[in-house]
Amino acid sequence: MGKKRDSKICIMIVPHTEKVRRLTIPRWLPKIFMAAVLTTITGVYLAFNNIYTSHISLEEEYDQKISIINKLEEENRKKDIELSKLKSENKDLYETTNEVEEKLAEIERLQREIEKKVGIKSPSRGGGMLDDPPQEITEPVEELQVLKEVLEEKERELIIFIDDLEKRLEYLKTVPDLWPTKGRLSSTFGNRKNPFGRGIKFHYGIDIANSIGTDIWAAGSGRVVFSGYKAGYGNTIIIDHGNGYKSYYAHNSKLLVNRGDRVEKGQLIAKMGNTGRSTGPHLHFEIHKGGKAIDPLTVLK
Ligand SMILES: [Zn+2]
Repeated sequence: MGKKRDSKICIMIVPHTEKVRRLTIPRWLPKIFMAAVLTTITGVYLAFNNIYTSHISLEEEYDQKISIINKLEEENRKKDIELSKLKSENKDLYETTNEVEEKLAEIERLQREIEKKVGIKSPSRGGGMLDDPPQEITEPVEELQVLKEVLEEKERELIIFIDDLEKRLEYLKTVPDLWPTKGRLSSTFGNRKNPFGRGIKFHYGIDIANSIGTDIWAAGSGRVVFSGYKAGYGNTIIIDHGNGYKSYYAHNSKLLVNRGDRVEKGQLIAKMGNTGRSTGPHLHFEIHKGGKAIDPLTVLK
């Protein structure tokens, strides 16, 4: 064994019953064994450590993900708030648009009513707005732009309309359509029995009978072209209204305006009388259009 002491280890197993057993192992084996055990322990430790570390990093990753999700959710909430704000703004705009449209429709209606009353037409009656339903427009900015254009177009139209209207109203003021006095219609325009003699005589106006001194008003605005005594007519006033119209007021007791005076429709111009060829106090009223006497009842309102 002497030489082999360096290379071998002898293990003797001594049981109580059986005979001794001898086990010979190489001297390096325990070292290898210890080394293997140490390596294994180290390996297991490292493995566990690795798993633990990766678990920690997974947890960290998880936490990060959660915080990102939270952030995203927060952003989403903000977006929702913004969206609902936008929606409500859009609703406000929609309501405003509707209101403006209602107002425009009302303006159209009034315009048409005025047109009918004064007998003119607007330059254009484009209901562009009413033809295009607002549902087709999705962008609020776009809708506002359309609304702005419609309103500008309407404004242009109304400016022209008002101008036409003013001209028309100015013209209407000149039309001698106001009853020139109060009283009883005692004679109409046309053929009638001659009140001063025999036969039929054409009556170029209407007679309105009342007491002496009853107010006589200008039937329309214009300029006084005659104020004085006229054979047959007595104290007479003639007003030139322009546009081919003239009105005659005869048999007055008093004349209150002079030749050249500018008179307004409804202005007091004379007092009823019985001057000239008259059978009693009354106003003889004539309207001439284009130099010809026409039936005043076709003009008076
Ligand atoms: Zn008469």
